Amino acid sequence: MTKIFCIANQKGGVGKTTTAVNLAAALANIKQRVLLVDLDPQGNATMGAGINKSGLTSSIYQVLLGMGDVKNIRQRSEAGQFDVLPANRDLAGAEVEMVELENRETRLKDALMKVADEYDFVLIDCPPALSMLTLNGLCAAHGVIIPMQCEYYALEGLSDLVNTIKIVHSKLNPDLKIIGLLRVMFDPRMMLSQQVSAQLEQHFGDKVFKSIIPRNVRLAEAPSFGVPGVNFDTASKGAQAYVEFGKELVTRIKNI
Ligand code: ATP
Ligand code: MG
Repeated sequence: MTKIFCIANQKGGVGKTTTAVNLAAALANIKQRVLLVDLDPQGNATMGAGINKSGLTSSIYQVLLGMGDVKNIRQRSEAGQFDVLPANRDLAGAEVEMVELENRETRLKDALMKVADEYDFVLIDCPPALSMLTLNGLCAAHGVIIPMQCEYYALEGLSDLVNTIKIVHSKLNPDLKIIGLLRVMFDPRMMLSQQVSAQLEQHFGDKVFKSIIPRNVRLAEAPSFGVPGVNFDTASKGAQAYVEFGKELVTRIKNI
């Protein structure tokens, strides 16, 4: 059955897009059929997958406003071997325009249902806000993957996100659960990283993925080449960590 996962954290710059793009590529490399949904007007996942956001004739904006179908608007990431529902700054307008529309929280879900059976995984890269766009992501998903940097303030924002997920679960989407927390940009030489990492394991137990993504410059360089880090430098520590994470996720969802 298709698994639809949001990559979400309302904090900015924590590694959501890097995780979404590299997880998509890692899953594609183990023969999974993947759709990457860019739900952020910044369009970083689109660019990271090698698709030029400035050249789009249509995007997820049309999908959310009911002016186009995913089937016609999705594109192929040759660099990643997965499909992409692309975004650009047009999407910022959708937030306001959707307020007037019916079923505004479930517009993404309704659109994805038409193609879901073509994929093993649909991964949704959320914007850094608990906004109407993120709400659409959470309503469409079976689960949430939360990338986290192991720093002091990371834990503060986490409770807001967990509360939002609880509310969406009880009021809008009973399927929704937290799949796991992923430690990213990890620097083992920093005492604080170790401490926060241990705290996370204490609080969240099995919900913390075993795979840890290190801080790795090759992952940061890859987007400017339009190639997922996993395929940009396969030997790098960052690429290998995302490959491991992809395998861990596949195993984990067999058990839920
Ligand atoms: P936003 O909230 O703006 O959407 P985000 O949560 O999607 O941000 P990213 O864009 O994935 O975060 O990452 C923020 C920055 O950190 C980027 O420049 C990215 O290249 C870099 N980065 C992400 N993960 C790593 C890593 N493991 N090692 C080194 N750099 C990283
Ligand atoms: Mg992002």
